[in-house]
Amino acid sequence: MDEELAISVRGLRKAYGDNVAVADVDLAVRRGEVFALLGPNGAGKTTTVEILEGFRRRDAGEVSVLGVDPARPGPDWRSRVGIVLQGTGEFDELNVGEVVRHFAGFYTDADDPDKVIERVGLGAKKRARTRTLSGGQKRRLDVALGIVGRPELLFLDEPTTGFDPEARREFWELIRDLSAGGTTILLTTHYLDEAELLADRVGVIAAGRVIEVATPDRLGDRHQALATVSWRTPDGVVQSTQSATPTALVAELAGRFDGEVPGLTVTRPTLEDVYLRMIGH
Ligand code: ATP
Repeated sequence: MDEELAISVRGLRKAYGDNVAVADVDLAVRRGEVFALLGPNGAGKTTTVEILEGFRRRDAGEVSVLGVDPARPGPDWRSRVGIVLQGTGEFDELNVGEVVRHFAGFYTDADDPDKVIERVGLGAKKRARTRTLSGGQKRRLDVALGIVGRPELLFLDEPTTGFDPEARREFWELIRDLSAGGTTILLTTHYLDEAELLADRVGVIAAGRVIEVATPDRLGDRHQALATVSWRTPDGVVQSTQSATPTALVAELAGRFDGEVPGLTVTRPTLEDVYLRMIGH
């Protein structure tokens, strides 16, 4: 297996009875990369990720995660991998500090629990019982538990679901920080803006197959897409045209209007536009 790859998957298949959840997945995630797995509900993302995490058995295919087959993990493999599960963050009467310290005890080289709590923005809640946390605060605790072992590779399954806009931004900062520190991150998300902001590359999975892997700006040949230029004519009608050379068109319009072009906008397909087209909407 390639040393440069944190995750390498070939021909992965998994069925639940007659339902083929993962038909034939190939995937390569480089070390240090932030990789986002996108796809509609039921596409096979969680099944794939849970096989990579060692939580599910596969029917066929080759899988290597940090050089190890997750179906036969060695003793130290689990401590090299961080997993942010949905909804671990409730531990009855324990407070945030106690839970993070407890999890830190599972690792030989854990990070300082107080530092981790600050890092996920729960500093003010260190002594709060976990059952009193809000939904977004519980997700932050999930993240704290995923990173306290200083993982080389971090799995994040829909990490910002339920976050308010400010919490999402703070979370994105944290992910950028972890990535800058060398952590490889595999993320599943339904938020295309999140994928665009965080991911070095995205993979689109539909009906159990990877249909494309690309950088967010190149997915679906987005970088070659025509731009849409819109403006308002002197009698107030909005006019719109597609152009491969929008700068020249805008210059021409500026000449025509002798300066400012009323209501001018220049847009290109968003990641969401190309994604929806790819999955057939
Ligand atoms: P979502 O975006 O909704 O989380 P997903 O891409 O993560 O979807 P999976 O959870 O991997 O999709 O599901 C893929 C398919 O496998 C679905 O048809 C689902 O119903 C089925 N499936 C998943 N887990 C099980 C299970 N434990 N038993 C039976 N079928 C399952």
